[in-house]
Amino acid sequence: MDLSRILTGLGAALLAAALAPNPAPAPPAGSAPGVPSTRDFGNGPERNEVAATAPAASAGAARAAPLGALPESRWTPGRVGYPRRTDLRVYPENPADKSIKLGLLPYHAIAPRLNALQAASDRVSAEVVGHSALGRDLYLVTVTAPESAAEAARQDRWRALIEDHPRAARRDRALRRGYKTPVWINANIHGDEWEGTDGAMRVIERLAAATDAATRRLLDRTRLYVTVTNNPDGRIAGTRANGAGFDINRDFATDSQPESRAVRDVVIATQPFVMLDEHGYTGTTLIEPATPPHGQNYEYDLYIKHALPNAEGMEAAIRRLGHPETARADIPFRDYQPGDWDDWPPIFTPMYAIYQGAVGHTVEMPLPVNHEAYETLPVEELRRRTSVNTDVVAATIGAALTYADTHRAALLADQIEQFRRGRAGSPSPTVPDGYVAGFGPEDRYSTRFPRAYVIPAGGAQRSPAAAARLVDHLVANDVRVTKARRDFVLGTRGYRAGTYLVDMHQPKRGLANALLEAGRDISALVPQMYDISGWSNRLLWGATVDISATASPPVSGIAVTAASPTGAVTAAKGRDLALTMRDRADVRAVNALLDLGVTLSRTGAATVVVPAAARREAEIVADRYGVRFTAARGPVGTPFTRPVIAAAVSADELFALREMGFEVRTVSTALLNAGAELSDVGTLVVSAGLSYAGLNAAGKAEVDELLARGGVVTRGRTGAAFNAAAGLLPATAVTGRADANGVVSVRNTGAVVGAGSPPHAFVYSPIWFTGTGFTVEQSYAAAPLVAGHWLPTAPGAGGPEQAAGQAAVISGATARGGRAVMFGTEPLFRAHPKGLYAEFARALFWSAS
Ligand SMILES: [Zn+2]
Repeated sequence: MDLSRILTGLGAALLAAALAPNPAPAPPAGSAPGVPSTRDFGNGPERNEVAATAPAASAGAARAAPLGALPESRWTPGRVGYPRRTDLRVYPENPADKSIKLGLLPYHAIAPRLNALQAASDRVSAEVVGHSALGRDLYLVTVTAPESAAEAARQDRWRALIEDHPRAARRDRALRRGYKTPVWINANIHGDEWEGTDGAMRVIERLAAATDAATRRLLDRTRLYVTVTNNPDGRIAGTRANGAGFDINRDFATDSQPESRAVRDVVIATQPFVMLDEHGYTGTTLIEPATPPHGQNYEYDLYIKHALPNAEGMEAAIRRLGHPETARADIPFRDYQPGDWDDWPPIFTPMYAIYQGAVGHTVEMPLPVNHEAYETLPVEELRRRTSVNTDVVAATIGAALTYADTHRAALLADQIEQFRRGRAGSPSPTVPDGYVAGFGPEDRYSTRFPRAYVIPAGGAQRSPAAAARLVDHLVANDVRVTKARRDFVLGTRGYRAGTYLVDMHQPKRGLANALLEAGRDISALVPQMYDISGWSNRLLWGATVDISATASPPVSGIAVTAASPTGAVTAAKGRDLALTMRDRADVRAVNALLDLGVTLSRTGAATVVVPAAARREAEIVADRYGVRFTAARGPVGTPFTRPVIAAAVSADELFALREMGFEVRTVSTALLNAGAELSDVGTLVVSAGLSYAGLNAAGKAEVDELLARGGVVTRGRTGAAFNAAAGLLPATAVTGRADANGVVSVRNTGAVVGAGSPPHAFVYSPIWFTGTGFTVEQSYAAAPLVAGHWLPTAPGAGGPEQAAGQAAVISGATARGGRAVMFGTEPLFRAHPKGLYAEFARALFWSAS
């Protein structure tokens, strides 16, 4: 890292964009040396501006997908040799595919090409490894020399040996000689960054057809895996996001989308030494490794020793293309300032892949062809650009293959070493200055791994359904979890049999910790961050998880492949039943009972009473959603029905609301002005794309009618502005820095949102409320920021010190006659903080009544 450079370029541009009340248009991509290129935000502050609509292609599918009864089948590699020829289904020609104008492969043309390649070459295999949000096939192509079933099985045993018995793998001569170097290319994860697909297809075709001895030797000792397009919905529509409106390259650690789950399963099954994630467009080609802050759970020494020379090899390869635009690359680790292009969160594909054993790189093609360029440039210029970009993709893949082949022994040894350290619980070594060129103190990030995480069973568990969800998530990510066979004591605490244990002496301890640690406040370390800086599946997913810092688990456990069922109806027959809405699963169960026509009532905001006569229905939803019905005590409460919800929300929030089983109709300023009706709506949710001041007379009349009788739930700046303009709660919203985000500590005081909520929340562009005349449901703790990046907007303003003790979520009766709840936190952000969903659901039920 060249510390002599002053902070310019991206740092300043991003800060300005983040602080602006409206998202600034993306600055032109940088091209001057040392001036960092611009990265697009994905679902950041700009998501408050445009309300999500139901996906046009398939509104029904969008509703059914997250709630469907059939679990998607997980791809696992077959136990056969190579080639694995699959007759891929061919989609009808789609003249609206946005790739066509660019002279690139439309999605419908990919399957025919792959079918032809498989027929022509015994080096090419294609498999379907999952489906997009809108149901399109996701392809994995493998290019390698043919293998018998026995040879493929041996490769698989070696792969497992490297991971599970790294010392044995290191000693295994046959493995060292015969293990095929796995290299994985992920293309087109952002749908409107197209040419990853086309460049990768060029490489596949070249390798399939080449007759030279060098290629033959390469394929004898290499498996090249290519996920040809990770985002068919976006490729066709010309959008960054998938069909559900999600940025897939922000979804690792959450796995809310089928595209990220498919790629997760591919990386686990293939365990690549090297991977590239092909993106665009940054003016100058950009090739990671990244700037600090570096993820603190990496074995960073093992990564950077390969990542930097591999990046420089790719830079040399694009230089050799001879295009004036490819004379050099930006390598953020080498060329940018700390915070300009970091690898801190595990939400990006390459960062996630590092934890799975790969040397992962984001590669950004240079020449923009999306956004305004797509609409305004002449077709010839667009195609000239896509031709250069395709060259860049093919060149980077070629260079990475060469690096992987040339350094296969060292890459193998270092992947083994990564897993060995994990299994042995060895400390990560301190990396000395100059370890690679430019490595300095600013690059040194490390952590102390706890000895174990404990997910209690029985009464010590806040939500058995949340615990089961977390365990299933960990297992799906190849984190090893065991279940205690008997009661035990760890440290000073006693645990019941059935308690889950994450022994941190395991090959992928880095990933386990990245998911389960609290994280860290990095505000003082870098001036700004690129995307989220805090997340925590332990603090935000709703399960009780304890930490054993040093004591090792004293009990043998059974390896867990799936969490045990948690649903139960424990009340005696003939008794009314009670369910507390503490978790997403509880809310889903309540909505399912309402769907089944069961008459429910509520005592307080959280406790739902089910009549004894509906015991059979309760048993069904208990089994299906893993929730527990106990015997109802006290009064029966107030009957309620399923609220009809109109939502002007971001795409992730729409998805989360549907995950909970709510019936949601999307609205916006434009839709209301065009005559959308709210007469049957119980609650209006406002967080994106709805401005009260922007409504015409008819739209305003419709909203006013609802405000006089129904509920409003707001989130964020757009929601707070709506509250102020519509004159609902007498609260003043104070905004923190727009790019501030992370996990915060909260105090729960209110009966609606506060009741039984976890002591943590997530914020992005945090807000707090001042004034009187409302109930404080939740407030920021005295030192709110647990993990993340949150600086003041100006000295003494907008920072966590100013938010300390202030109201984060409020509720009350409005001046218009209805009820309102206002969130300054982000309980549904990117469908990640699943333990906070019930807070939002209780606000919806309460405000609708
Ligand atoms: Zn991208």
